[in-house]
Amino acid sequence: MALIVQKYGGTSVADAERIRNVAERIARLQHAGNQMVAVVSAMGDTTDDLIALANQITDRPSARELDVLLSTGEIVSSTLVAMALRHLGLDAISLSGLQAGIQTDSTHSRARIRRINPERIHRELDEGRVVIVAGFQGVTEELDVTTLGRGGSDTTAVALAAALRADRCENLKDVEGIYTADPRIVPAARKLRDIGYEEMLELASHGAQVLHPRAVELAQLYNLPITVQSSFNEEPGTLIHAETTMEPTNKVRGIAHDADVAKITVRGVPDRPGIAATLFEPLAARAISVDTIVQNASLENLTDLTFTVSRKDLRAALEIIQPVVLEIGAAGLVTDDEAGKISIVGTGMQNTPGYASRMFRALFDAGINIQLITTSEIRITCIIDQAQVPQAVRALHDAFELEKA
Ligand code: ADP
Ligand code: ASP
Ligand code: MG
Repeated sequence: MALIVQKYGGTSVADAERIRNVAERIARLQHAGNQMVAVVSAMGDTTDDLIALANQITDRPSARELDVLLSTGEIVSSTLVAMALRHLGLDAISLSGLQAGIQTDSTHSRARIRRINPERIHRELDEGRVVIVAGFQGVTEELDVTTLGRGGSDTTAVALAAALRADRCENLKDVEGIYTADPRIVPAARKLRDIGYEEMLELASHGAQVLHPRAVELAQLYNLPITVQSSFNEEPGTLIHAETTMEPTNKVRGIAHDADVAKITVRGVPDRPGIAATLFEPLAARAISVDTIVQNASLENLTDLTFTVSRKDLRAALEIIQPVVLEIGAAGLVTDDEAGKISIVGTGMQNTPGYASRMFRALFDAGINIQLITTSEIRITCIIDQAQVPQAVRALHDAFELEKA
């Protein structure tokens, strides 16, 4: 008997018929003798709709109230899946994040799971029940509801799989696996049989929305192999694990893109020690993650400092940065909220020259201007114009011949 944790994304539970299909899939595995825990996302576009609703009331919803509101989306779908299973004659129970024992820190809208008390889930499983857990949520020590950030149900599933010592952790989605690029943008993208944690983490952290980055981090931390596969068919998906197969290493593994980037330039920054810390500490204190950071060489003791944030964080970032700019005596701020980024990722790039120049050449040939460049050992990222992101992804997919195995 295996303990299987599955996660079903929003598209997979978007309406009553799909919920029935999900229940049947869970039921088949239960009948085959497995213990089943399923984490579910909110139905279809529910989370977006709830955010839009809150924004009709106020343009500054309280973070605490917004988290409670958004958590209801996953509660709805978890109850319906449990009902569908009971309709099939199985004993099933839905649990909220609180009931599932998921405790987080108190950073609303992007909370991190601190610990999981799996007692209740174990008890329900021991009673022979299928357990359906509302994804994307937990509670603070004071039992205030938190959410884990967009796409966070993936993280709920991996964290539960680790806490329950599950035998398998499967993410069932509207795609058949991890592809060399988003198949919605590159129809010729190729499904990967497997991928290592590091490469997957780089892809996920730099825009590949297919997995929540924290889910990959947790899987790596607990050395837990996870799969991404389709919820609509039984095709083999992609295995994400510690070792990748010995595919040719001179390859880019995949391309990630993010069309929702905002760029902030602080102009005429006095060049003295401590300035960067003064600028970035208050952003970190408000949990705004700063991505690409570039500082120019200083001319006459003045320098420009450019960094990017997620577009949804631009307003909050500016509110924090503006007073600091005055305080340090910088010349001013320039913002661009129409930036995007594209990244090529692959462990094969480590210590191998030529990837960057090939990337820049491909972008130039496609008529795309590069605004900023950053790299890690296994990734090269370019900030470009948002409107050119799809075109850039296709150009790079071609240039690195990713459609070929
Ligand atoms: P879920 O329904 O589980 O929340 P998501 O919608 O968050 O799933 O993620 C699936 C989507 O991720 C796909 O529909 C696809 O468009 C997108 N995606 C982006 N990059 C990739 C990639 N490299 N491989 C597969 N899918 C990708
Ligand atoms: N429903 C949440 C979202 O849309 C969480 C998730 O689906 O994973 O972001
Ligand atoms: Mg998702």
